Amino acid sequence: MSFRRWCARSLVLSALVLVSGCASDPEPASFEFETMGTLARCDLALPDGMTAPEAQTMVTAVYDSVTAVFSTWHPDTELSRLNRAPADSAVNLSPWLFQCLDQAERIRILSEGAFDPTAEPLMRLWGFYQREGQLPSDTEIDSARALMGDWAFTGDSEATKRKADTRFDLGGIAKGYAVDLAAASLRNAGVTDGLVDLGGNLFCLGGAPEREDWRVGIRDPLDRTTYFASVTVSGQAVATSGSYERFVTIDGERYGHIMNPATGRPAKGVLGVTVFAETAALADALSTALFVQGHGVGRIFLKLLPDPVDVLMVIPGREGEKARVLYTPGLLGRITLLEDYADTYDLVEWR
Ligand code: ADP
Ligand code: MG
Repeated sequence: MSFRRWCARSLVLSALVLVSGCASDPEPASFEFETMGTLARCDLALPDGMTAPEAQTMVTAVYDSVTAVFSTWHPDTELSRLNRAPADSAVNLSPWLFQCLDQAERIRILSEGAFDPTAEPLMRLWGFYQREGQLPSDTEIDSARALMGDWAFTGDSEATKRKADTRFDLGGIAKGYAVDLAAASLRNAGVTDGLVDLGGNLFCLGGAPEREDWRVGIRDPLDRTTYFASVTVSGQAVATSGSYERFVTIDGERYGHIMNPATGRPAKGVLGVTVFAETAALADALSTALFVQGHGVGRIFLKLLPDPVDVLMVIPGREGEKARVLYTPGLLGRITLLEDYADTYDLVEWR
């Protein structure tokens, strides 16, 4: 089957698909596997000489290497060792950890702390690592918040915690970082068209915007089994944050896994936010930051970014009104509300 025909077929099968951009007829490869507690998926046009198992081995190796650095679930990763480091001891960082932490820190500063790579004590307190929620007291929340941010870069690629219990959780950026690395190694191996997806963090590899684009399905935050909109993307990364992705239930109430560092409580108010950016790490971190900020502060934050990004944010409607899908002007003409959703959502340009 040609790549073009395969693309047309996958349009029917999946809402997250390539609809055009199949200039030549290279071998298609589609594979998925579990990693980092989520599903990894690739749809690639393979260059001459590359087989699908080779491509999968390449991507798997990248994700395994990233896990060995960033996972907080394994005690022997580099990040776990940094987390266990005592106060005031300088820890040397590998290039990946340094680069990712450096970017996380820049976004923390720009977002005035809405994104914070040291949300670990809050995540722990609310029970996200134990996968069993517990309602903390105000005193416990204050103690956890006091541990956040108490570290600094103390050398070229060195970090020092000032408190032993200050701990990092890079869950808001590391999957995006991994996608960038996977996309880079595929690109180096000659892949020019392809979609790399790691648990909703995507990179859409592709050429000329006029001819080659992807149509990315955006999950309905009110019913995550379906998609409510599609957006065309070319040569860009996409990331979505939603409280429906991971949550704990405490006394019958659901609490999402994105913390508002200002309150020490799970962020509320936004239903879902999708960011379109140049790198998947940036899209990942910004989607988390915007989820915390909400649409008021979020709009100001977006204007402060050195490089503009496009965003789609779903927020609840006012009393008796439909939920609103806010989109930045760069998405004009690229976004389509799927059939049947006109009754659920109002599409509003976000200026
Ligand atoms: P997902 O992991 O579903 O893709 P996000 O990219 O929004 O969702 O990241 C949420 C994760 O980020 C949490 O599971 C946690 O590891 C981490 N995190 C939670 N709150 C914050 C925050 N305020 N700033 C940075 N990272 C956070
Ligand atoms: Mg994120």
